[in-house]
Amino acid sequence: MFERSLVGLDRTRKGALIRMNGVGVCPGDDGVLALDRRWPDHAVALGWFRTHPVAVVFEPENTEEWPGARGWFSQLDGAQTELLSTALQVASWQRDHRFCGRCGHEMRRKPFEFAMVCPSCRFVSFPRISPCIITLITRGDALLLARSPRFSVGRFSTLAGFIEPGETVEAAVRREVMEEVGVRVGEVEYFGSQSWPFPHSLMMGFYGEALSEEITIDGVEIEAADWFYPDQLPGLPPSFSIARALIDNFIEGR
Ligand SMILES: [Zn+2]
Repeated sequence: MFERSLVGLDRTRKGALIRMNGVGVCPGDDGVLALDRRWPDHAVALGWFRTHPVAVVFEPENTEEWPGARGWFSQLDGAQTELLSTALQVASWQRDHRFCGRCGHEMRRKPFEFAMVCPSCRFVSFPRISPCIITLITRGDALLLARSPRFSVGRFSTLAGFIEPGETVEAAVRREVMEEVGVRVGEVEYFGSQSWPFPHSLMMGFYGEALSEEITIDGVEIEAADWFYPDQLPGLPPSFSIARALIDNFIEGR
């Protein structure tokens, strides 16, 4: 449905358009898509959706109250979610990489690629993607769920964190769990991944088998954590999140 080919698109000045300001996305005729519009000069081509060339346009001066990007994710189908995720990340990359990080010169877009090149020192910048682990730790039938102070009242979720430079994903799972709740993790099994464009995470989902039971929370990133059984679960993350998929899949597979 969404084809990531930019060939020929830089000269296309018309097609579907996603309009956004800092955090909001303008409702279009088809979800987030405004169909068959002329593209302004600062629109950035993203690829092809169904038969339409698609571009995103970032309008920082636009103060209209458009629905927040997070809200769209619960309403859109899978293909439009992928498109919006791409649009959000490309728009924030364009906005945040206008000047060369090495020499400070103004960057130029490389045609047909998501790449910015410095005309002075040839440094190339690509959209930033930050790899994160997200993990459901289990012990028998019990699920280890935790809540961050940022969560809505009563909601618990799986544990997550950024992978550090030089670290493997498996080591990141074990380190994050130890840091956040003090539980030792043995076997780690890959589940799947999800792009999470707030602002540019790639969530890699794992199941982890607990080797210890006692929970010691860090009190900063995590304000509460506990073992839960499937018949007495707390409030859970939304259905479109990989956190929820990890939980649902574990419960169905028992
Ligand atoms: Zn440079």
